[in-house]
Order: sequence, then C-alpha cells, then structure tokens
Amino acid sequence: MQPLILAIDEGTTSTRALAFDLNGGIVASHGVALTQHYPQPGWVEHDADEIWEHTLASIQTVLAEVGRVAAIGLTNQRETIAFWSRASGRPLAPAIVWQDRRTADITARLKAGGQEPAVQAATGLLLDPYFSASKIGWALAHWPAVAEAAARGDLAVGTIDSWLVWKLTEGRTHISDATNASRTLLMDLKTRQWRPDLCALFGVPAAALPAIVPSAGALAETRLFGAPIPITGIAGDQQAASIGQACLSPGMVKTTYGTGIFMLAHAGAAPPISRSRLLATLAAETDAPSYALEGSIFIGGDAVKWLRDGLGILHTAAESEALAASVADSGGVTFVPAFAGLGAPHWNPRATGMLTGITGGTTRAHIVRATLEAMGMQTADLLDAMAGDGVRPGVMKVDGGMVANNWLCQDLADATGLVVERPRCIETTAMGAAMLAAVGAGHFADLTVAAAAMVAPDARFEPREGDRAGRRAAWAAAIAKVLA
Ligand code: ADP
Repeated sequence: MQPLILAIDEGTTSTRALAFDLNGGIVASHGVALTQHYPQPGWVEHDADEIWEHTLASIQTVLAEVGRVAAIGLTNQRETIAFWSRASGRPLAPAIVWQDRRTADITARLKAGGQEPAVQAATGLLLDPYFSASKIGWALAHWPAVAEAAARGDLAVGTIDSWLVWKLTEGRTHISDATNASRTLLMDLKTRQWRPDLCALFGVPAAALPAIVPSAGALAETRLFGAPIPITGIAGDQQAASIGQACLSPGMVKTTYGTGIFMLAHAGAAPPISRSRLLATLAAETDAPSYALEGSIFIGGDAVKWLRDGLGILHTAAESEALAASVADSGGVTFVPAFAGLGAPHWNPRATGMLTGITGGTTRAHIVRATLEAMGMQTADLLDAMAGDGVRPGVMKVDGGMVANNWLCQDLADATGLVVERPRCIETTAMGAAMLAAVGAGHFADLTVAAAAMVAPDARFEPREGDRAGRRAAWAAAIAKVLA
C-alpha cells in the first residue's frame, strides 16, 4: 500500500488533520473549529489547551479511518505565541494571537526611538505588534505566572508549531522550524539563529525559546498513537501554502485568502530587503534556506465572517457569492475592513474599519459586494508594493477558504489585471506540510519533485478590462480617510 502523510493544519479559526497520498490526493480529513476570545477591543486570544485537544482529536479521527501513516507534517497559524510550564506541560496563560494589538505602544515606542532600520536589517520584519516578540515581552511584564515560571527556569515559550511538537512528544522536544522562527522578530534572517540583542530589546528570556530547526527532516517523533510516527515537516501556514502552490522559484507569487490575506513572492537563496514596506521572510529551509517577500493583510475572510456573525446580514459565508453577483456594482459603497489595524503596505496598528458611500438605496447585497471587492483592492495595493521591489508576476496563484467563491476569484483577476490560478486542492497549506513531510521522510528528493507528483491546477480566471482605475481611486480615497 502507498504510504500516507498526515498533515496537521492548525489555523486561526480551525484545526484540520488530512491524510494525503503521494499523488496529492486527500484520503481522509477531520476538522474542528477553534474558539476566538476577544477580552478587550484589539485583544485576541486562544486557549492553547483547546488547540492541543482539537489537534489530538483530529489526528485520532483520521488515524482511526486510515490506520497507519508514514510521517506527520505540521503547519500552523504564525506569530501567535503560547506560554507553558516545562514541568507540567500546561499553559500558563492564554496564547496571544497574531491579530492582537495590545502591544501597539511597545512597538510604536521602539519605532520612535529609531530602532526599525536595524530590526529590519536583522530580521526582515518591521516594528509591529503583529509579530511575536512584543507579545512575549508584554506577557512577562503583565502575567505573574509567566514571569515566575521564567524566574524558576520552568517557562517554555513558542509559536504554535513549538507548542504542538511539545505536546506530541510529551515534552521531549522543544523546537521551532525556521519559517515560524522568522516571524518572531527575534531570529536573524541570514544565520537563522536567535539574536541575543533582540531578545534583550523585547524583554524575552532566551532560555525559554525553542531550538530552531529546518523545515524538513527527522525533526521529532510522537509515540502517542501506538507505533512511533516521525514528524518530518514543519512550516508556518503561509510558507506551507507557497510550497503547496509549487511557488518554488524566484518571482512566483501566491496569495492566500483565509482569515487574513497573505501574498508571498519567492525571492531566491538570499534574504531580500524590501524598499516598499513588505516583509522579508524565510520561505523554507530544506537542504538550504530560501527566502520570500511577503505582504500581510490582517482582514480577509474575517470581514465576511463579520457580515455573518457581527452584522447578521449573511447566513453563511458561501452566500456572499450569489449576493455579490446579484447587483451590477457596489452602488458606490466602499468597505475598508481594517478591524485589526492596517498591515502591508500601510502598517498602521491603530486604524479601524470604515464603510463609506451609503445611501438610502444601499442594500445588503451592495455591502456584501463591497466586502468582497475589498479583497481585490487590498491585493492590488500589495502588488504595487511588490512592483516597487521588482516583483511583477503575470499569474497569481490563489488559495484559502475564500477562493471557493468563483465570483471573488474573477473579481481578483479584474481588480489586479493578472491571471488568477486556483489549484485542484485548495487545502494548499496542508498540502505544503504534506510535501515537506514527504521530502523530510525521504519519499521525494526535493520539493520540486514532490510538487510534480502532488500539485495540479484547477481553474484559471482571465482579467477583464472594466473600470479598474475608477475602483482603485475610490479605494485609495477611502484608505486616505482611514489613515487620516
Ligand atoms: P484560516 O485558515 O485562516 O482559519 P480558511 O482558509 O479556512 O481560514 O478560510 C476561512 C475564511 O474564509 C473565513 O473567514 C470565511 O468567512 C471565509 N469564507 C469561507 N467560504 C467563503 C466563501 N464561499 N466566500 C467568501 N468567504 C468565504
């Protein structure tokens, strides 16, 4: 029988476990939604125990269906940071989620102090509460249980890959793959080592951090499911999605439309430095490191979720497709969904959302359409920034929960003027983790060989000429108001 790879995709809103065969087929899958906690405006927390329980249950369900798997690949929401006791393996505090803005003052102060150029040169990142470092410093300063554990030498801190590997190995292994580590503001992008000066700058106890390891290889082993299973691939979700989209050579671009929107452009073997307020990040570390430029937008599908759960004008996210198509345009409505500040290329942590152009004739269909149109407008802004850094793709590969929406995919092509390509398997994040794990377990020589076996295209959306310039002007005016 063909070996199967178990991919664990621990996303912001759900955990999924998927068994892949080596042709890229999904043999079994199971998913569980994750509770979002919003204790104060701008704060977002997860319960690390809940993340672990869902992961364990998802793995058990899939293994019950497929029997044995040859290896595990793990991919996860990035930057979100967990705090736990080495002795008990229990969380000491809530996990602070990537969207959380509680540390906006800390990063603003460092920026005002002129620290950003040196931090960007070392890490490829900018000073923003999005990344893990200021969240760790905040936890040490505000949560006595975390500070006391650090003083006793009992504190373990890590991104969600670290937390899950710790639990899967029953505390034997405290590691983070280099792609996840590249999102903390603490790792030197070139050497892929923690920087003591940056740990000191953010008040992070270096002893609590995991060891940084490559994204593929014999990284760890779990003995929780009968015969030991090796964990042979780990990557942050956006890096995994790039791999799952076979964006493996310089200039190739993928954009993921999930909770947020993340565009990654492969940048080759040396760390790039953006001149356009994009991020430089590790794409993967297999035999050698490769790098990417990234544009991160915090609100994508979350805006549709808000229409459903906050405003109550949708029953399901999928309903947005028919509603958007039911009107000829947005009726002059523009929606800037800056719920968690604005990310690339604006980087304004204090911005809030704005809905403009409402008249007595505005219907929910117009608001829904404006919400979906905001995805294309945000994407076009990112592509302008990419062009500023010399990246000008002809094709944009897309994935994530939102691209099941055909209207959205066509509008992305129309808004950007690019051919939009959707793969057969839109679970590209899990696919990337499975590809890394397959390479790490020796089933394929490298990611290119894995991609040839596992990745296939599905649909292409050709751009149509319309009033692209007019739409972008209206959007730019709305962004200017949000930033004013
Ligand atoms: P994540 O991995 O970030 O948790 P997913 O990739 O699963 O997210 O995408 C889920 C997001 O996509 C949700 O925010 C949801 O509102 C949105 N979404 C799901 N289906 C659709 C659809 N058909 N049209 C528009 N948005 C959708």
